[in-house]
Amino acid sequence: MNKVYDCVILGAGPGGLSAGIYSGRNRLDTLLIEQGQVGGQIALTAEIENYPGQSLFGETGITLSERMRDQADQFGVERVTDCIEKVELAGDVKVLYGKNETYQARAVILATGAYPRPIGCKGEGRFVGSGVSYCATCDGAFFTDLEVYVVGGGDSAVEEAIFLTQYARKVTIVHRRDELRAAKSIQEKAFANPKIAFLWDSVVEELKGDDVLNAMTVRNVKTGVLTEIRADEQDGMFGVFGFLGTIPRTTLFEGQLTLENGYIVTDEDMKTNIEGVFAVGDVRKKKLRQVVTAAADGAVAAMEVFSFLQER
Ligand code: NAP
Repeated sequence: MNKVYDCVILGAGPGGLSAGIYSGRNRLDTLLIEQGQVGGQIALTAEIENYPGQSLFGETGITLSERMRDQADQFGVERVTDCIEKVELAGDVKVLYGKNETYQARAVILATGAYPRPIGCKGEGRFVGSGVSYCATCDGAFFTDLEVYVVGGGDSAVEEAIFLTQYARKVTIVHRRDELRAAKSIQEKAFANPKIAFLWDSVVEELKGDDVLNAMTVRNVKTGVLTEIRADEQDGMFGVFGFLGTIPRTTLFEGQLTLENGYIVTDEDMKTNIEGVFAVGDVRKKKLRQVVTAAADGAVAAMEVFSFLQER
């Protein structure tokens, strides 16, 4: 593609969509590239309860991001589905090489987000899709009337455990400490839910089974005791959902951008170490990774792109 856009945004989670809304509104010639569905990680979230101004009832990650997408469309943002395999960020014209096309822009906003951290136990890879999942919204219904185990103790783990109780007979949260990291309001809901149990100070050592997951070994980190958990005979299987935080998607930028623990380092205007390259949302080094902070990053970056292009 010979066209040079004013601004190419890579990733259509809340950060990228918000950048799109602001960039389109500034009448910049803007392209938003996404490799899958819009929404990024919130597309995997069953319930959003803390985004200001959201619908109070029945707001899911999907409904919220679809409205953000429609808003970006309204401001004339072009959208394309492609998988970017290589980027050249240093020059005045930034080049992104996709599987289908090559894209050029005078400024880019990187909003590639992050992906779920694996549980990291033996056997995990074997059972992805046959007992192991990282998305309750996608796979919860497969475990109707069965038992499920949720690994992790943060907001995601506890919220998704609550969500899973609408399908599963019992949900056990397996957490490596004896207190949860999740916000108190979310914890309260989980403690009050009779279908949720807790396995404290515990980590999953191994997942086992023949065709499907039906046993696992859990280690108590304080006592070292190993416990074998087996599926109920009538069930024949159980589910394990991993919610242990995320890993940033930055492999493409290694050697070009300054990274810290894999996250892109920016200043408070979302500027990276390369002129004309901005980063927003969960892929950026920062403290609070929320929809609201990703959306704020997107707005700041798009306004900075506008100033940057005007100065040129
Ligand atoms: P998180 O807050 O980083 O929590 C990850 C959890 O996994 C922690 O409980 C951690 O244990 C555990 N963990 C990490 N590595 C582990 C390992 N190797 N073995 C065993 N356990 C491990 O991740 P998150 O829950 O996905 O949340 C990410 C961000 O999104 C947070 O800022 C969160 O507030 C936000 N979020 C917000 C909402 C909401 O407000 N509705 C919903 C979802 C996510 P420790 O506690 O011991 O460290």
